[in-house]
Amino acid sequence: MKMRKRRVLVCDCEKTMPLGKAGLEKACRKAGGDGELFLNTQLCRSQIENYQAALESGEDLLVACTQEAPLFSEVAEDFESSGTVSFTNIRETAGWSKDAEKATPKIAALLAAAAVEPQPFGNVTLASGGNCLIYGPSEQALEAARQLSDRLQVTVLLSEDEGSIPPDRMSFPVFSGRIRNLKGHLGGFEAEIENYAIPSPSSRSGFSFEGQSRSTSLSCDLLIDLSGGTPLLPAHDRQDGYLRPDPGDLIAVQKALLEASGLVGEFEKPRYVRYDESICAHSRSRQDGCNRCIDACPLSAIQSLGDTVEVDPYVCGGCGLCAATCPTGAMDYRLPDTASLAEKIAYCSPVIARTVARPPSCCCTTVLTGESFCPTWRALARACRQMFCPWRSMRSPRPASTSTFALWPTAQPRWQSSFPLQARGSAGAGGDLGTGREHHRRPGPWPGTDLHYR
Ligand code: SF4
Ligand code: SF4
Repeated sequence: MKMRKRRVLVCDCEKTMPLGKAGLEKACRKAGGDGELFLNTQLCRSQIENYQAALESGEDLLVACTQEAPLFSEVAEDFESSGTVSFTNIRETAGWSKDAEKATPKIAALLAAAAVEPQPFGNVTLASGGNCLIYGPSEQALEAARQLSDRLQVTVLLSEDEGSIPPDRMSFPVFSGRIRNLKGHLGGFEAEIENYAIPSPSSRSGFSFEGQSRSTSLSCDLLIDLSGGTPLLPAHDRQDGYLRPDPGDLIAVQKALLEASGLVGEFEKPRYVRYDESICAHSRSRQDGCNRCIDACPLSAIQSLGDTVEVDPYVCGGCGLCAATCPTGAMDYRLPDTASLAEKIAYCSPVIARTVARPPSCCCTTVLTGESFCPTWRALARACRQMFCPWRSMRSPRPASTSTFALWPTAQPRWQSSFPLQARGSAGAGGDLGTGREHHRRPGPWPGTDLHYR
């Protein structure tokens, strides 16, 4: 069977889902499916040749299984198929539920929604050369630097000196100072330092520093903050490249060091929002207007440019709050975009509406997102049903509103945990950084460091 030109491969996961071929085929046809539906029972193992045959056809495929997606992707790579393969989960979201016997329409809707191609969106590339600034009290910062110095270009900035004895071999630079301000992103942090000082080479029983009153700035690719003080960035736990473990928690510190050692290379990050300045109400003729997106952005990724605003895609974490609060629609969330969501609704609604009198309560949520556990989406799905869902229609006194659609794309919490950075090279812990690129080294005042001083 094909849905929106994608060949659909369905598997009942070793007969653990009560899928009926005739019923599902009929439901899929109502959702725009075409052709005969073949039901697999163990597509990832004994019936893998069915998948391989589909690959050989060169068509775009939709596989109704996410658990074995890595395996299917690997097989697709071997076949060098000209088509694309996408995946959707019909098992935990429908076929394994306690209402599985009645879930056929929902499964058809899930397939129809997954077959909708999202609009293309752009990426930005974050390039990290592994220049790591470790900031904190001497004991923890020096120990962290010792562990990372053979993997990253490490520099230590001591926030306070607890009387540590200087290492007998200075394999990384050590300075003293306090970070007054930090801005930037992975691959491009700028730290303003006050009370900057260089240790005396004759420091013997403890560091002794010279020139305590200087100010300077440092640039680095990533920063490990072991100071335990106030976070240097807003929403710090969502900022790629800024690692701030609790210095008293050894496991958290070790996890941060491990994470830092992998943050080398080039990383892709989606442009989460699109901004249309022609309908922005920020300011006109020096009359201040709307500031909602600037106020709402937890990462301070939006700034005013006079009559318009600007989103820094390198800093943006993709939470969608700007689009959710924008009164004009000038901020548009791209993942997924409004048009794709509307298309999914258009495909899913009829199939369920024609098949059952009332769908399971989580239907809208899971059909559109596959994430029935997400409380924000649950709330939105509730609002959706109240406003225009056919199964609740006419019961709600509230009329459908044009702002309803503006809500859809904005409410997904898309933090870095949901959209981890995608490494472009085979970056990882290692001396040559494994990026396959010439590692750019900027001149620095200290042998072996890439920190750049201004
Ligand atoms: S999506 Fe979130 S992080 Fe990105 S600009 Fe909008 S409010 Fe800021
Ligand atoms: S919330 Fe919308 S209208 Fe207001 S400043 Fe931001 S983009 Fe412009």
